Amino acid sequence: MTPSWTEETHPQEVIAWALETYPNLLLPSAFNLNGTVLIDLAYRTGYRGEVVFVDTGYHFPETLQTRDRLAERYPDLHFVTLEAGLEPEPWGQERYRTDPDGCCAARKVAPLRSYIEKKNPPALLNARSRDQAPTRAHLGFLELGERIRINPLAYWTRERLEAYAKAHDLPVNPLYWVGFLSIGCWPCTRAVQPGEAARAGRWAGRGKTECGLWVGKEAL
Ligand code: SF4
Repeated sequence: MTPSWTEETHPQEVIAWALETYPNLLLPSAFNLNGTVLIDLAYRTGYRGEVVFVDTGYHFPETLQTRDRLAERYPDLHFVTLEAGLEPEPWGQERYRTDPDGCCAARKVAPLRSYIEKKNPPALLNARSRDQAPTRAHLGFLELGERIRINPLAYWTRERLEAYAKAHDLPVNPLYWVGFLSIGCWPCTRAVQPGEAARAGRWAGRGKTECGLWVGKEAL
């Protein structure tokens, strides 16, 4: 039966339902603000499973440090880092310049897809929210992909996420506080300007808005 949630439903209520309904769910994360808040909320609600991260070979050092700080803070969670298995290309030959879709498919989607197919969780806990980008404006708590995706933060605004992170002294990626409101690989991420959507700094000027994990024919 579909839960009777509204936009005001607290994310922990959604997470509690998810843990009861899909006890073997998985939580993939890129350790952005949203991801850090979701990890904390999930932990407080009783999640003790895996937090799965894909190391594309192009992450900012601050992102890897954030992962390590979170792993220290939540020793009961199992932090899993999947290696893309591809060396960064020599300068001048970077695939992300000429074929970012192919680069994301090889470095992000394929490693996570392969891991998820092996683990076969019934559902994925996901940290996306509506106000991150116009393409996410209609996101709901529940989403049907190849398996159920549960988005407890769908209706939380950036301001609310920041307030939560500050109130609980969460180890947010320090790049966030200098304008990197959404943080992916360094070649494809810039700080956003005032008034821009959080994800406007991802693949800016390249006509690409999603890595393919959650949207597109290879989406999970
Ligand atoms: S975000 Fe950029 S560097 Fe990272 S996998 Fe995608 S295209 Fe490649």
